[in-house]
Amino acid sequence: METKKKDIRALSKEQLRDFFIAQGDKAFRGNQVYEWLWSKSVHSFEDMTNISIETRKMLEDHFTINHIEVDQLQRSSDGTIKNAVRLHDNLIVESVLIPAKNRTTACVSSQVGCSLDCKFCATARLKRMRNLNPDEIYDQVVAIDRESKLYYNRPLTNIVFMGMGEPLMNYNNVLKAIDKITSPEGLGMSPKRIVVSTSGVPKMIKKMADENVKFKLAVSLHSAIDEVRTSIMPFNATFPLKDLREALEYWYAKTKNRITYEYVVWKGINDQRKDVQALIDFCKFAPSKVNLIEYNPIDDGAFQQADSKALDMYVSMLEENHITVTVRRSRGKDIDAACGQLANKSS
Ligand code: SAH
Repeated sequence: METKKKDIRALSKEQLRDFFIAQGDKAFRGNQVYEWLWSKSVHSFEDMTNISIETRKMLEDHFTINHIEVDQLQRSSDGTIKNAVRLHDNLIVESVLIPAKNRTTACVSSQVGCSLDCKFCATARLKRMRNLNPDEIYDQVVAIDRESKLYYNRPLTNIVFMGMGEPLMNYNNVLKAIDKITSPEGLGMSPKRIVVSTSGVPKMIKKMADENVKFKLAVSLHSAIDEVRTSIMPFNATFPLKDLREALEYWYAKTKNRITYEYVVWKGINDQRKDVQALIDFCKFAPSKVNLIEYNPIDDGAFQQADSKALDMYVSMLEENHITVTVRRSRGKDIDAACGQLANKSS
């Protein structure tokens, strides 16, 4: 019976160095192989051309290199690209490349499906199947960087964890992936260009603050009234706004980083003056930015984008209270690549 080989990318650099020492080779060989696996992102031992053929064979006998495959690539009329990404166990996640004038953003997934049950989000219907490994997150970024160079002649500049899944429910792997993305031995990107978006897991927000992370935080708020928020994000019953607010105060005290809120205004749900006032009261404790996101309908039509009068009210009331506000238009809607539309429809 064939024994299952270990995925070599599950090893840290130190473990890889130790492996080579145990094989009677030099620790330095570990560094070379590590570079092939991460900054060069090769998918086979054969491609490691500065490693001897015998060593490559030996690696082949011990390990596999798990890697993602872009199964399907769709291009939107606005230039957005959506990848359906096949994982080593044949599950699929999606990631999106969003080109803009001065930046190219990768929107990546952190889980297969999602355990939260946000009523307005297509990914919620998939339920959570498993967490992504650090290399599976890293590979999505590499794939998008390559596509950005291929289609737009420039490298990726920004990353947002706004694809499938709740990144703070896969915290360790997300952090490991970010370490590799920002490390000079990986992609060498600045953590300031990475945004982790969360529905708000208070304990994990505090942990991030304690660990002095350098990436940015965005919170999907959508309502600052418990009753309303629980009705659209049932997860709020377990982690009510009071706890979220306390965790964010802690985050701000430690990091002094502005907090970004993502917020959709829906007809009949959160489009009244009292909703805006609650939002202002919730976020005025720290410098804040509210991104008003356009609603991307998912098929059953239970939610509807509020009319422009309601949006104007949000903008003017927030501005009067010195809270930065932007109205963000959706990208990639025609290929179901916009926020909340990732649901493996193509597969
Ligand atoms: N779980 C994380 C990240 C994934 S969702 C989070 O909740 O932040 C990324 C963003 O898209 C979130 O702000 C989410 O609330 C928003 N979103 C989900 N469904 C949407 C939809 N149908 N239209 C617009 N935005 C949506």
